[in-house]
Parts: sequence; structure tokens; C-alpha cells
Amino acid sequence: MKKVLAAVVTMAMTMSLLTACGSTAASADDTAADATEVTTDETAEAETPVEEAADEAEVAEASQSEALADGVLTVGTNAEFPPFEYVDDNGEADGFDMALCRAIGEKLGVEVKVENMEFASLVSSIGSKIDIAAAGMTVTDERKESVDFSNPYYEAVQYVIVPADSDIATADDLKDKTIGVQLGTTGDFIAEDYTSNVAQYNKAVDAVNDLVNGKVDLVIIDKNPALVFETKFEGKVKVIEGAQFGFETEEYAIAMPKGDTALADAINGAIDELKADGTFDELVKTYIEAE
Ligand code: GLN
Repeated sequence: MKKVLAAVVTMAMTMSLLTACGSTAASADDTAADATEVTTDETAEAETPVEEAADEAEVAEASQSEALADGVLTVGTNAEFPPFEYVDDNGEADGFDMALCRAIGEKLGVEVKVENMEFASLVSSIGSKIDIAAAGMTVTDERKESVDFSNPYYEAVQYVIVPADSDIATADDLKDKTIGVQLGTTGDFIAEDYTSNVAQYNKAVDAVNDLVNGKVDLVIIDKNPALVFETKFEGKVKVIEGAQFGFETEEYAIAMPKGDTALADAINGAIDELKADGTFDELVKTYIEAE
């Protein structure tokens, strides 16, 4: 009997608790509804300027690129490729390409923001996460299927980095070796012609570290970064010119969304101006030739 009574009391208490919870939940709902209303009102008020901006963008569309219309040019890069891009002592992306993009931004009157990401993700991020990519990127037919390129701004070639005591010297010597490369780069594509043992890295410096540790036999990478790594790993590695292996010259350009001709015109125009006013040569001296 006592047990039954206890059970009834427990039930009654539970029910009142449930009721209490219910009413609390109801008032929370009211609050939520109020909050929703407020938000809706605010959105409604904000609609006019947003619409106006959209209208302005439409008017400007004929003469201005969609990527530039918001006043911010988001530049994607992989800041692991000195002297073209690297993270400086303050944690900021710097290097020739970054300075060039900042100068282009100034000419076009837009703010430049840098998005640092994996090299292999750059092309597919253009038009969504980033407006353009500046990353010592070689113009290739394959990339041209998904993006447009600015006029080329720098000539490059792949170099080979080997341990200081290596006797690798000819294209034949590259066959079946373990070759370190940066994932998705032209060096990666060349390596695949010589061997099935390609070690792909997201950061070029990791490939060179593994060369020094004996995990790879050689690294194929662009000339200027190769020269920077030669200095950084002085005495441990040496570089061999790509011409010795028959590697062809390449051209760097800025990659941008396919079909945005207004953007291409704006960027090419800015690069032309920077060449004409001496800024471009200054940047080459500061960032590339000083290395
Ligand atoms: N130039 C090479 C390419 O475009 C490498 C670029 C890089 O590693 N940032 O594939």
C-alpha cells in the first residue's frame, strides 16, 4: 500500500514537473518567435541597401568584373614557394606574387585579401573560395580547360635538387628513382614521366627535408625555389639546371575564372602599367634577384 502511495506521489510530482517544463518550453517558444520576428524585421529593413548594391553591381557588370564588384580581390596562394610566396616573420603571406597582387589591387582600387591553401586546391577554388590564384603557377593546357590565365609575367623552368654528393646528371639517371615533388605541380607531372615512385608533398620544404634524410633521391621543383632551398640547405644539397635534363621553359601567370574578360583586361592592364612605371622591375629586384 505504501508502495502504491509512493508511486502515485512520484507520478504526481513527475507530472507537475512535466507541466512546469512544458510551460517553460512554451515561453521559450514565445521568446524564439519574438526573436524571429525581430530578425525578420531587420532583414526587411536591410533589404533596400542590399538590393541597391545588387542593382549597382548589375549596372557595373558591363564594364566591371564580378570578382572586382565587391571591392575585394581574394587571392589564393600556397605560401610555401619562396621567393614567390612564403609566410613572413609576422605570419603574413609575402613574396613576389603577393607584392605583385597588392600592387595590382592598388591600381584597380580594390582591397587584396590572401587565402593560403594547398597548391593542388587552387584551380578548383577559383570562382568560389578565391577570385584569382597567384602561386608561381605555370600556364598549362590542362589548367586552361578550367581557368583563364593573365598574360605571363615570369619565365621559369624545373630544376633538380640532389644530395651534395649525388652523381645524378642526365635524364637517364632520373629513371626509376624516388622523386620528391610538390603535389599537383608541373614538377609532379614531369616526375611521372620518369618513375612510378613519386613522393608528393603539400609543402616543398618537406620534400627537400626528405631528400636530406635520404628518403627520396631527388626533388624536381621550379628554378627559383630550388635556388632558395640550395641556400637554406647549404652544403647538404646541390641543384642541377633543368636544361641538362631537357626540361622545357614554363611561364607563370595569374589564374582567374573562365570567361571573366573584364577581370582579365583589368589585371593585364594593371600588370602593363606596373611594368611601364618601373614597379614590376623593383619587385623583381626586391624579391627575386635579392635571393
Ligand atoms: N610552377 C609550378 C606549377 O605551376 C609550381 C608552382 C608551385 O608549386 N607553387 O605547377
